Amino acid sequence: MERAEILGVTFDNITMRQAVDRTMELIRSGRTAFVVTPNAEIAYDCIKDREFRELINKADLVIPDGAGVVLASKILKTPLRQKVAGIELAEALLPELAKQGKRLFLLGAKPGVAERAAEKMEQIAPGLDVCGCLHGYFESDEEAVEAINAAKADIVFVCLGSPKQERWMYRNADKLVPCTMIGLGGSLDVFAGEAKRAPELMIRMNLEWLYRLYKQPSRIGRMMRLPKYLLYAVRKSLKK
Ligand code: UDP
Repeated sequence: MERAEILGVTFDNITMRQAVDRTMELIRSGRTAFVVTPNAEIAYDCIKDREFRELINKADLVIPDGAGVVLASKILKTPLRQKVAGIELAEALLPELAKQGKRLFLLGAKPGVAERAAEKMEQIAPGLDVCGCLHGYFESDEEAVEAINAAKADIVFVCLGSPKQERWMYRNADKLVPCTMIGLGGSLDVFAGEAKRAPELMIRMNLEWLYRLYKQPSRIGRMMRLPKYLLYAVRKSLKK
């Protein structure tokens, strides 16, 4: 599969359909795998933190979640095919999981949110088997590992925010029953109706970041990583 290196992160240059197929293949492979969905903020952390970058690049699938990453890829003349938003990948996976009888575990968000997200997901994909839920404020890694193993999960949506979720997946991969994990940030909040995505038009205009800032002005600090990331891309392209 084609990959593209953007400022040190090796992204899989794939469409949404390919991302779904590849994730289903990982599940069927019968080994433990992990999928990351870096947006520009996460990709910026990768520039600054070598160890985190190496961890991200070890993932079985690295999906470009965000217009910022796709824009950087164009600036660097190694264009990625498309943005594959983590939440949209999650939604596209649900009917496939239901069809293939795969067991989904939801990890993360505040107590009660994962259960509400599960109800919504079962409406989206009737027959979906959500085999367990655990909020993201557990005492120890072991507590979460035991819950996932006891539920015999095939796939786990790990929604602890970044970089916590990526580090968690990497650290615990060996302790889990064979399953595929995907880091999906605040997705459970959106499924549960706790948080809203930007209006369709804003998403299409690549302005989802602006909506998030409007809803949560306290994000301004972390969101400054987006322009800084793009600046890195411009500088690197000028040096080429
Ligand atoms: N979260 C969690 N455990 C933690 C910290 C955060 O489960 O120790 C959850 C938090 O409740 C929220 C999500 O992780 O549901 C992070 O959402 P955010 O939108 O900040 O993540 P992003 O998608 O921007 O990485």
